[in-house]
Amino acid sequence: MSAESIADELLSLIRDAKEQTTYFQELGVESLEADSPQCDLMTTEITDHHPSRAAWLGTPEHPSQAAQTLLVQSPSASETVLASTSSSPFNPALKKTESARPPNPATTGLPQDLLFGDFTLPSETITKSAESFEQIWADLGDCTRCPLHQGRTNIVHTEGNRQARLMFVGEAPGADEDAQARPFVGRAGQLLTKIIEALGFKREEVLIGNVNRCRPPGNRPPTTEEATMCKPFLLREIAAVKPEVIVVLGNTAVKNLLETREGITRLRGQFQNYKGIKIMPTFHPAYLLRDPSKKRETWEDLKKVRDYLDSTANREDGS
Ligand code: URA
Repeated sequence: MSAESIADELLSLIRDAKEQTTYFQELGVESLEADSPQCDLMTTEITDHHPSRAAWLGTPEHPSQAAQTLLVQSPSASETVLASTSSSPFNPALKKTESARPPNPATTGLPQDLLFGDFTLPSETITKSAESFEQIWADLGDCTRCPLHQGRTNIVHTEGNRQARLMFVGEAPGADEDAQARPFVGRAGQLLTKIIEALGFKREEVLIGNVNRCRPPGNRPPTTEEATMCKPFLLREIAAVKPEVIVVLGNTAVKNLLETREGITRLRGQFQNYKGIKIMPTFHPAYLLRDPSKKRETWEDLKKVRDYLDSTANREDGS
């Protein structure tokens, strides 16, 4: 090969690499870690740009006023979408098992496997899928993807109405949930049930799940890595149901679901847009049991959810 054609070849490779880089930049990719097994799950991060926390507390008491406030709130005005990468420190041996099938992008609109092997791209919105929970759980199988499987008695799946307008997501099962294979059945769960009823729903009318399905040892919060392994199954359930609002309970669930560093104290009480779904972060019922004075703020947050659902109740598509 002549020096000239080598130079041409190199120039062409450089041009290709440049185009590829521009393409990744347009997608919001900030860095690529080629040697990390599942790292390349692209995520969007939502941060709080609401003027002040005082505004949350100034929520109009009258439902129709509150509903109006919420209806005119543009998602783009209330949040910023940032690109971030999440790396996986998981043992490459766990990288792909036969049961570790990724979500089906054709049906879920969730992290899509593209041309780049394990590399996945952010999905702007969750599109409704036709998957059944049973299909999703079959893929999850007798999961050993993260270390939490070692201490579990049962996998605790999402339960409730699969046509629910409202969903609650917590962090992970505790001892009672692990024993009964049902989410939110312990003391915190009983308080959650009362909250749901105060909102005008029966427990069985809503959907209840957790970011993680196995009980962490000593009830410690699941790590980001543990959440990253489990979350795709929750996202598939969310896609199958497409609830109008998801109430995310507590700091760990908010951080792990929304992949934000913002704490619950700053995010709570403001609707967030997570991949096209309205999210209301609020305090975890276990926290309310420890500090009942926070119930008032929680109720303010939940009234916004109730008012929003009231405002969309008669719409065919719930939009
Ligand atoms: N706490 C959670 O976050 N989830 C449960 O299911 C129970 C307690």
